[in-house]
Amino acid sequence: MLDIVQVPILGDNYAYLLHEPDEGVTAAVDPGEAGPLLAAADAHGWTISYVLLTHHHADHIAGAQALRDLTGCTIVAPLADLGRIENVDVAVSDGETVSLGATHAVVFETPGHTSGHVVYWFVADDALFSGDTLFALGCGRLFEGTAEQMWESLSRLRALPDETRVYCGHEYTAANARFARSIDPDNAALAERAEEIAKLREAKQPTVPSILGVEKATNPFLRADEPEIAKRLGLDDAPPVAVFAEIRKRKDAF
Ligand code: ZN
Ligand code: FE
Repeated sequence: MLDIVQVPILGDNYAYLLHEPDEGVTAAVDPGEAGPLLAAADAHGWTISYVLLTHHHADHIAGAQALRDLTGCTIVAPLADLGRIENVDVAVSDGETVSLGATHAVVFETPGHTSGHVVYWFVADDALFSGDTLFALGCGRLFEGTAEQMWESLSRLRALPDETRVYCGHEYTAANARFARSIDPDNAALAERAEEIAKLREAKQPTVPSILGVEKATNPFLRADEPEIAKRLGLDDAPPVAVFAEIRKRKDAF
């Protein structure tokens, strides 16, 4: 079973250390800076042997080269980002698996936030490292992809088991909750979750990871095909992707 340590970095980013105890292998996910990951690894007596990157943005990769220089670790990154990330040792694409000791992740290409974005799903551990594709109660901005691509990406993630824990790249949940309530005000599960989130943030506690089943019931970006939401946005007969695009547009202006 994977030992997962959340490492807050850069203000509102989350990086992660994944330790596979059988073979004593450790991976750093999205190290936007090296220092905190080295310190966390040190505190556990672990040596970082892999870096897993979801996409090319600096807040997710800027510590990767320093970790590689210091530890000789293997950098795993999206094939589509080869021109934009230095010293990639293993380039991955959709459907490939990444072994971490006795466990492994399945790679999903999830274009939308960036064109090359991937996520890592550790099947046996029920853990999804979703980068800036799926956030707790939100999704990434569309910097390089279309609404069609992002809706397709999120639809594929939505099909994973309810018990999947979603380890995303940012602590954006409180702001996402305020926006979600504006889109889906009659959703009782969302109202309850928004209260829990406010309490957690007041106590300076993380709201991540979240549970995919809860995201399915409360994250408006995963609910663009709910007739109730389409109706509220005045898009009764529109296809889900048009509803998704409208929700994303409103979030950008929120
Ligand atoms: Zn990003
Ligand atoms: Fe980011």
